[in-house]
Amino acid sequence: MNIGIDIGGNHVGMGIVNENGKIIVSDVFNYENRDANATDIFHAINHFIAENRDYSIESIGIGIPGIITGTRINYTCNLPIGNFDMKDYLDTELPIYLSNDARCATIAEYRLTDNHKYSNYALVTIGTGIGSGLIINGKLFSGTSGSAGEIGHTVIDKDGVPCKCGRRGCFEQYASTTALKRMTGLDSVKEIFYLSEKNDVIKRVLETYIENLSEGLANFINAFDIEKISIGGGLSRFGDRFIPELKEKISNKICNKYTSDINIGAATLRNEAGIIGASFLKEYLNV
Ligand SMILES: [Zn+2]
Repeated sequence: MNIGIDIGGNHVGMGIVNENGKIIVSDVFNYENRDANATDIFHAINHFIAENRDYSIESIGIGIPGIITGTRINYTCNLPIGNFDMKDYLDTELPIYLSNDARCATIAEYRLTDNHKYSNYALVTIGTGIGSGLIINGKLFSGTSGSAGEIGHTVIDKDGVPCKCGRRGCFEQYASTTALKRMTGLDSVKEIFYLSEKNDVIKRVLETYIENLSEGLANFINAFDIEKISIGGGLSRFGDRFIPELKEKISNKICNKYTSDINIGAATLRNEAGIIGASFLKEYLNV
């Protein structure tokens, strides 16, 4: 058994996970009011580790949004912590493994579903931003400095919309749910999909959005020859409504015209994927 910890923007999810991916014990530390600081977060994690010391735990895996190198967190977005080594703050002798949250979700989606039959697989999370996790030859690919998979910041229009990363025309400026809301002037993705069936203007905007999505995903497929992509994040629950059209648009853009099918589906695991994926980091990280 391993401990999996998912440090999110407003809560820390913690669990003891068995080898089948089942969470045996779990706890959550909420800090929605953003009053929590790094000390509170470490305290909550240390408390969970101490409280469950009677279990036979092999490792601790932690997922966090940001850029990670080894057990060092270089940078996190939207969290009150950053630039430190996790090992220095946890009261444990157990091995500690760290990765970014999108990669932990990727491991869970790969390990616990049929997706494990593909050796080259990616989960692309489409929500307020766009992230991804990539499995290459059955192992998680983190890159040289731990920042692989930032496809949200690959450019699809070099003179386009400015992005917080400093460039213009990044994929996430055109294909995140934030972009979809900006394009339609509506606040709810559910409402946008609902209205697209009744309103021609919304329908056309949604078509443009799906076209944008196909541009970035085709680039990703062309770069890595990925066998299967799962769409996660806020958009995934509307998969039935856009994936068939998305596949058609991508099929015109990929280099390998000889492949019979563009294999894209909606992610199936929801909230607990971060904890479960983190618990399996030991197996998937090349450390
Ligand atoms: Zn960017």
